[in-house]
Amino acid sequence: MPSYILNIFGSAVPFTVYRRSIDARRGKPLRFVYAVDIMPKDEHTALRALKGMKYEIIPDGGYVCPVKRGAFPRPVVVGFGPAGMFAALLLAKAGARPIVLERGKSVDERVKSVELFWRTGVLDTESNVQFGEGGAGSFSDGKLNTLVKDKNYRGRFVLSTFVSHGAPEDIMYDAKPHIGTDLLRGCVKGIREEIISLGGEMVFGARMTDIVTEQGRVSAVKYVKNGEETVIETDTVFLGIGHSARDTFRMLADKVNMEQKPFSVGVRIEHPRRMIDTSQYREHADALPAASYKLSHQTSAGRGVYTFCMCPGGYVVNASSEENRLVTNGMSYRARDGINSNSALLVGLTPADYGTGLFDGMMFQQHLEEKAFALGGADWRAPCQTVGSFLGIKKESASVTPTFSNGVREADMRKLFPSFITDALSEGLVSFGKKINDFDMSGAVMTAAESRSTCPVRILRDENGVSSLAGLYPIGEGAGYAGGIMSAAMDGMKAVESYCKME
Ligand SMILES: Cc1cc2nc3c(=O)[nH]c(=O)nc-3n(C[C@H](O)[C@H](O)[C@H](O)COP(=O)(O)OP(=O)(O)OC[C@H]3O[C@@H](n4cnc5c(N)ncnc54)[C@H](O)[C@@H]3O)c2cc1C
Repeated sequence: MPSYILNIFGSAVPFTVYRRSIDARRGKPLRFVYAVDIMPKDEHTALRALKGMKYEIIPDGGYVCPVKRGAFPRPVVVGFGPAGMFAALLLAKAGARPIVLERGKSVDERVKSVELFWRTGVLDTESNVQFGEGGAGSFSDGKLNTLVKDKNYRGRFVLSTFVSHGAPEDIMYDAKPHIGTDLLRGCVKGIREEIISLGGEMVFGARMTDIVTEQGRVSAVKYVKNGEETVIETDTVFLGIGHSARDTFRMLADKVNMEQKPFSVGVRIEHPRRMIDTSQYREHADALPAASYKLSHQTSAGRGVYTFCMCPGGYVVNASSEENRLVTNGMSYRARDGINSNSALLVGLTPADYGTGLFDGMMFQQHLEEKAFALGGADWRAPCQTVGSFLGIKKESASVTPTFSNGVREADMRKLFPSFITDALSEGLVSFGKKINDFDMSGAVMTAAESRSTCPVRILRDENGVSSLAGLYPIGEGAGYAGGIMSAAMDGMKAVESYCKME
């Protein structure tokens, strides 16, 4: 972190930047707001100097990695997304020598599979934007904000781990930290190497296919690699499979207690970056980084519509992981300098919309993805519609070139979604147009289906983070307790802390 000197009553006090944010509220002068961390030699003088200013006395502290004592079988971590990665890192630091099973490829090989898919439409169902080293986060915007409180310094541990593996230092203090997919991939490799150097083991291309149980507890896991089955005996499994491992969820259904979880679906919407920046920052747009937004609206029918996972200066990508089922998402590079800015525009659903069975939500997602694939021309182009055509408005506006990685095909979103979704999207667009100038501009483009914003099921767990099957710790987004890179990583850490406390 950058270190500077502050003059307090004539004495030089070193400080580091703790938090940096931009205050660009309308009608007020543009301000950069800094919170700084000082460690004065003379606390009394410093407190006098700070009188009238906002300050907090924070006890010296940092994250204390847990230690695992005694003799125990090597734990297995399934999935190397943020949850599995940070669980494996802590286990390795605790001396537990974890074995990590990841169904997808290592990040360099995975980049090749994804680029091939985007270029040619040849999908590798085991190595794609959802599956592979780094998990769903590897091809992301790399936003690292979280709403989870950081009382135990887990969040700062995650950020500092990324920094020590190549992420820019500003993620430690920016109010909206962002790495970018290009830099994130390098961090993921570095963390993997650290785990291996501490005695951990990584097996790529290894899909966990079964959990063997004995008297209500885990006794082994089975995985398949290159068509061959291997059994690992263990009494502890950290399950960080993300929200897209539908086959694995079905396998788990008769082994652990699970429940349905509400989720949202919708479209990706793209506007010119310049338009969003100007709307948010006005005359300061050129001086500031690409702008973000977060919008929400309650429809007259009581449904929530909101923007999610906004990617300033980013690209819309094909995030599919199953044949003939099309999924959109957003990604940006560190520079966030793409011509458009995009965001998911989502409508909240409840079981009344899709059924109360455990996998009804998942099947609803699949059905939408199949329809989106067909509407796009069944060749991996995404169905795409302008906001003007969707709302039936003939308002002049600039046109927006869609960035979807596999190309787009004009389509009618009303042929894809049921009317309770399109009605909510229409109302949301008009409402958001009042909050961000031109958000509902005719030329803005929507691509679909944005169906995997979160997991449609939850694996139940107790106060120690253990599922109904002893020794099985469901973690991260797939477990249904986290959403996003930071919260998934912190959830993986929490499970390891709990495991280390167990006798
Ligand atoms: C394109 C995109 C952009 C995103 N952008 C952001 C962002 O900017 N900021 C943010 O906070 N979040 C973002 N997200 C969401 C974020 O990536 C996820 O919330 C996060 O990755 C969840 O972490 P996880 O470890 O729980 O699961 P995942 O990251 O999904 O990882 C699960 C891993 O488990 C593996 N796996 C699944 N089943 C098995 C099995 N049976 N055997 C072995 N391995 C298995 C998968 O291959 C995968 O690698 C984005 C997601 C996508 C797809």
